[in-house]
Amino acid sequence: MENIILQLSYLIGSITFIMGLKMLSHPDSARKGNIVAAVGMTIAIFATIFLYRNSAGEGLHNYGWIFAGLAVGTIVGTLAAKRVQMTAMPEMVSLFNGMGGACAMLISMVEYNHMQHGGGAAGTGTMLVIILGMIIGTVSFAGSIIAWGKLNGSIKDRTIPAGQILNFIILGGIVVLSVMMLGGMAGGTAVFYGIAGLAAMYGILFVMPIGGADMPVVISLLNSFTGCAAAFGGFLYDNPVMLTGGILVGSAGTILTILMCKAMNRSLKNVLIGSFGAAKTGGAQGTKEQGNYKEISLNDTATLMAYASKVMIIPGYGLAVAQAQHTCHELEKVLNEKGVEVSYGIHPVAGRMPGHMNVLLAEADVPYEKLLEMEDANDQMSGVNVVLILGANDVVNPAAKEDPASPIYGMPILEVEKAEHVIVNKRSMKPGYAGIENELFFRPKSSMLFGDAKKMLQSLVTELKQM
Ligand code: NDP
Repeated sequence: MENIILQLSYLIGSITFIMGLKMLSHPDSARKGNIVAAVGMTIAIFATIFLYRNSAGEGLHNYGWIFAGLAVGTIVGTLAAKRVQMTAMPEMVSLFNGMGGACAMLISMVEYNHMQHGGGAAGTGTMLVIILGMIIGTVSFAGSIIAWGKLNGSIKDRTIPAGQILNFIILGGIVVLSVMMLGGMAGGTAVFYGIAGLAAMYGILFVMPIGGADMPVVISLLNSFTGCAAAFGGFLYDNPVMLTGGILVGSAGTILTILMCKAMNRSLKNVLIGSFGAAKTGGAQGTKEQGNYKEISLNDTATLMAYASKVMIIPGYGLAVAQAQHTCHELEKVLNEKGVEVSYGIHPVAGRMPGHMNVLLAEADVPYEKLLEMEDANDQMSGVNVVLILGANDVVNPAAKEDPASPIYGMPILEVEKAEHVIVNKRSMKPGYAGIENELFFRPKSSMLFGDAKKMLQSLVTELKQM
């Protein structure tokens, strides 16, 4: 009976996870989706703790450790999630992803130890699952920690001399040692932990040189690695819910990686060998003289917008920094009242995490239909009177199309210059995440509206209301 309840709870866990994932695909249902999946997983976890029996019919016994771990994880996770600033969310996602990788790595290590000390020789299949889970989990853990450091600015992009060759040698070493271990030609704890060490080195070296604008691809790739590593854990424990969860995270991460690659115009091969960031550094770093830029006053901006028939807002990371999403929605409503049609052009890598702008604007109740994907936004751009760029930089940088030496060359951008007027709001002439200057700001159609996005939008709304 207990086993039936356990299997049922696994089924509930798997179904709710799938439902949750589906619900996450739309901002309206995303919050509920998160809760549905979390409730399902909680049921599966507690059912495992209390109902699991091994082949000898024994249940779990070290409850003290289990509940202490659960308590620490719950408290730290809840506090971190509650306190995190929206702009620091990507760092936290990277860190949590790294913890998932570390779990998968530790599961493999613990199981390897059990086998070593339990005396029983593991079958090749089991050993393969242990080794793969350990390698992928370790790469994901080490890579995610480096990504976390890069996102919070504590680790700088670093090109490693002959990095690609080194990566290949390390990968080769991992494959050769693993095959030897599986084939019985080598074995023992030293070789096993040697593979773990190489996997950690690979994780570090492969993320280390990746340049600013390419981080989104790497983050989603590491996410899919963690999913795969967790799925190997599911195999190992013959646990259906862990397997389903791992496979879903792994495949969702892979799909997102492919979408991100397309958005960044990169090939997956380049991502896997960790070469693109290094290969592209050293291009236009913003040192060349760009000419003069012109400024626009708040009053002129309000006038231009009030008499426009179509306005497109391009949100970027700066909007998230300023937490200006609610004021932005207010501006949209004021313009609508004046008969101006307002839409939003969303670049897939705007902000600091996939879907960042969608989440931000959904938080402010901006209707989802008003958010245009990059291709649609570009199609409509020539009919737009005023483009208002709010704290975006790299995603509108024409160097991505025009300058083969630029680190972001090849990345599709929002082609704002097709519109009649371009107004850029940011606080200074400083570059964005990729660290390169933006010639758009110096082009004839562009005018700079300096200031913090929130304060500027508040003043703009007041100005428009008085007109
Ligand atoms: P950028 O990082 O290119 O530029 C943001 C701009 O916002 C800055 O130039 C800054 O200029 C301005 N800004 C900052 N604070 C404020 C404020 N309070 N008010 C007004 N403006 C402000 O952002 P984009 O969204 O254009 O591009 C995203 C970049 O991040 C891309 O390079 C992308 O590859 C990368 N990335 C994206 C990830 C993702 O998954 N989406 C993950 C990791 C990286 P100033 O200081 O002068 O105000």
